[in-house]
Amino acid sequence: MLGAMQDWDLRVTRIIDHAAREHAGREIVTRWADGSETRTNWAEVRRDALKMTQALQKLGVKKGERVATMAMNHSRHLVSWYGAVGVGGVLHTINPRLFDDQLEYIANHAEDQVLLYDHAFAPIVERMKPRWNTIKHYICYDNGEFEDWIGAEDGNTEWATGDERDPCMLCYTSGTTGNPKGVLYEHRSTMLHAITSLQPSIFDFDATAVMLPVVPMFHAAAWGLPWGGAAAGVKFVFSAVNDAAVLCELMNREKVTHSAGVPTVWLATFQHMDATGITLPTLRHAIIGGSAAPRFMIERLMKAGVNVAHAWGMTETSPIGTTGAKTFDWADLGFEAQVDIKQMQGRVPFGVELRTVDLGDPSVVLPRDGKTSGALQVRGPWVIKRYFKAEADTTDAEQWFDTGDVAILHPDGTLQLTDRTKDVIKSGGEWISSVELENAAVGHPAVAEAAAIGIYHPKWDERPILVVVKKKGEEVTAQEIRDHLAKSVAKWWLPDAVEFVDEIPHGATGKISKKDLRDQFRDYKLEDA
Ligand code: AMP
Repeated sequence: MLGAMQDWDLRVTRIIDHAAREHAGREIVTRWADGSETRTNWAEVRRDALKMTQALQKLGVKKGERVATMAMNHSRHLVSWYGAVGVGGVLHTINPRLFDDQLEYIANHAEDQVLLYDHAFAPIVERMKPRWNTIKHYICYDNGEFEDWIGAEDGNTEWATGDERDPCMLCYTSGTTGNPKGVLYEHRSTMLHAITSLQPSIFDFDATAVMLPVVPMFHAAAWGLPWGGAAAGVKFVFSAVNDAAVLCELMNREKVTHSAGVPTVWLATFQHMDATGITLPTLRHAIIGGSAAPRFMIERLMKAGVNVAHAWGMTETSPIGTTGAKTFDWADLGFEAQVDIKQMQGRVPFGVELRTVDLGDPSVVLPRDGKTSGALQVRGPWVIKRYFKAEADTTDAEQWFDTGDVAILHPDGTLQLTDRTKDVIKSGGEWISSVELENAAVGHPAVAEAAAIGIYHPKWDERPILVVVKKKGEEVTAQEIRDHLAKSVAKWWLPDAVEFVDEIPHGATGKISKKDLRDQFRDYKLEDA
């Protein structure tokens, strides 16, 4: 026997229908790369997405086929998200910062049919065209091309219908080895993720929110913001350039209440604020994720009265896994204790389950004792089952996804990420967390960025070294850094050497690339080795 409630399939086009109906006039502001600005709203975004749906039909795009974008954050990109899924297609957001070989691989692997791109990325597109085998149509967002293309349609059409488990979006994640892997989100998984994302401890969205997402729409689905934001009817403020001065000016002029970005973005914002004396009086909710938020960053935001949602997630988890949800006794905790909690990766919302297993023997599930670290596994309705085009295998039945992260789970469920399984440093049979060393190092006032890697040592197997970029105009010695670290980490964790460099390599999503750093220091010899 089935229940007797209505059929209302969880398809993401319902989100834009809702936004256009209930929040029609709420604005979407875009500051373009050339400095110009445009304003649209949720009703117009829906109308334009319907027009795009018709235009895609004319190009012959069929249900399930991939429509790719290579673009920064702006309103035309937002229209394309809903237009691509509206035709029944699969939106594939390509990260323009990938290497050519990766760009070639993913577009061919995805079998993209259409590519919409920013004029700024035209050189990449021209270079890659001969290597892309399946893309039949190229449409530029700028110079009136996109407007003319959809402008030829009347928008008088319906969204494609289908099963709520149909795919709607494809994101590739570039691991440290091998080809990038595709994560194929469903309408249902995306919808459940969007509904969950609205809660106070995650995006804290309602119709009063003015959100400036700095996280790019090509990185882990911009953390789901374009879906969740529409569901709540927020005002979006997009910037097609990621420049701290531009972002701060926009935040103050448009009275931005919410923003989201990786720690480096917040770092750049702070530097601009310090240099100019600017403040962000309207900001009330800051989402930080993608890599660990350092303590001073959390403290500074909290002191300014901003609620910090320090979130952990992955492309494979849509991406929300955990955020810094308040504990029941929050109001009774002192400021330092609150920062201690926010510095960890937080707790799961309903819908996500976590466990840790032994690093050497994954059949052993570890206790949530706040001490034991192990390999982090996750499951839930918006967590990947298998990568795009991968064959079904026995791990499907298991339904626990191996995150590649190393973590401690606390008795109250708080997740404390200690490393990546590939980055953790093994010294004398014990683990040293590279992340903790880095977090402690960036707490030093003269350190702009730091990365710890393991270097071969004949006795200890590996010993950590710390690679440091100094802040402009600041001086600090290796010994001063070691003294600073000694305040927060065990003595045997202290790096054997501190190397100063001008720059630390970053990957396509702006995170430190430990693989490149390890390559750079491949022949490095420790003094006593
Ligand atoms: P991506 O799929 O590119 O977003 O990368 C996901 C990975 O980023 C995770 O597996 C973590 O290793 C790392 N990560 C994400 N959020 C955090 C966080 N708040 N703290 C530390 N690492 C994080």
